[in-house]
Order: sequence, then structure tokens, then C-alpha cells
Amino acid sequence: MALTREEELAANLEDIKSRITEASQSSARNPHEISLIVVTKTFPVSDVQILKGLGVNDFGENRDGDARPKANEVQGRWHFQGQIQSNKLKSICSWANVIHSLDDARHFEIIQKVAIHSLDIFLQVNLDGSLHRGGSTIQSLYTLAEQVNADPNHHLAGLMAVAPLGIEPEAAFSQLHEIQLAFCADFPDAAMLSAGMSGDFETAIAHGATHLRIGSQIMGSR
Ligand SMILES: *Cc1c(COP(=O)(O)O)cnc(C)c1O
Repeated sequence: MALTREEELAANLEDIKSRITEASQSSARNPHEISLIVVTKTFPVSDVQILKGLGVNDFGENRDGDARPKANEVQGRWHFQGQIQSNKLKSICSWANVIHSLDDARHFEIIQKVAIHSLDIFLQVNLDGSLHRGGSTIQSLYTLAEQVNADPNHHLAGLMAVAPLGIEPEAAFSQLHEIQLAFCADFPDAAMLSAGMSGDFETAIAHGATHLRIGSQIMGSR
């Protein structure tokens, strides 16, 4: 008999959780210090409601227009992780609790003007030098961090990255971990690391990830 959507999501979720626990144990890390964000982009609000019923409270989205109606309907901690467009920031700041993809000082200036509640902010680091998947260079990262840190209304949580196409996640995330260790020396209160997606989260855990953004392995292919 075919599985219901709820059974399917529940099974996928259990599978991912046990893989997170195993990967944490192999890296001598505490699985409780690792947060799972279920990336619900392109999936309907009915799926978000099912996930909520299964105990999920952290949802990740890439596009304001897709996310806002879902976030308005289902209470939880909503994470924006897509490329930021200035003209969408006011809306994003209305529903998001966490922004993972800040990489531009001008965007933070807009956030300071339009945000109506406090945000947790991760700075996206570019790991491939080409900037086409977004992210800040190391040079601008520190300036941006100073700027966010100086604002008492928002909280600088840490760094985020996406492993570049064509580079082994192992190489990308070990580079990221070094960047993060140096960063934390200057910003000790921003020690979170958002890294790891469906295809590479175990590698990310081995390199210090505290926030995993997992979509297709739980939701199915988009
Ligand atoms: C889509 C997306 C994810 C989730 O990707 P999956 O491979 O489906 O797990 C995570 N992070 C970002 C930035 C994304 O755009």
C-alpha cells in the first residue's frame, strides 16, 4: 500500500535524524548542539503543517513569495537562506526569524530600517571565488560582521556557506571551518556555523556545522 505523505515525511525525518546522530558520534560531537532546518521551498503549506505535527519547528525557504504565505500560516522559526534582493527585504523581515545569506552591507542597512523584530543573522561566506552562488569575500566578511555586531537590535549568529559545485565538500567545509575558527577569535558570540545540505551534511557535521539546511532528502525531489 502506498504511504501517506505524513508517513513518508515521518520516515524521511527519522532517517535524517539518525544519520545526524551517527555523524555526530563519529566526529565526537553532541547531536543536541546541531539544529536541523527542514527546507520546505517549493513544497505546499500542507507539508509544512504535517512537519509541524511531527515536531519540526525550523523551516528554511529561499524565496519571499513562496515563503511568506506559509510562514503566515504555520508558526515556527522561519529561516531565509536565498539570495537577497533589496526590494524583498521588507517582506522577508516580516516573516523570517533568521537570515542565513547576508553578504552585502547595503542589505543590512535596509534591514536596520525595515525590520520590525529582532533577527538572527548568519553571514554567507563565498568559498569558490566566483561569487555566482553568493557570499562575501573574506575581506568584506569582517567589515560586515562589525556592522551587524554593532547593532543591538539584531544578533550576529555566525557564518553560513554552500559547498561550491565542482569542489569536494570535504575540501570546501574544511576550508570553511578554518575561516570560522579565525572568525570566532574576533567574534566569540557568533560561533554558529550553517553548513550542510542533503548531499553533504555528514561532511559538514565533521567540520563543525551547527545548523543543517536539509530539503530534498526529507521532502523529496523538487
Ligand atoms: C535548496 C537549499 C538547501 C537545501 O538543499 P537540499 O539539497 O534539497 O537539501 C540548503 N541551502 C540552500 C542555500 C538552498 O538553496
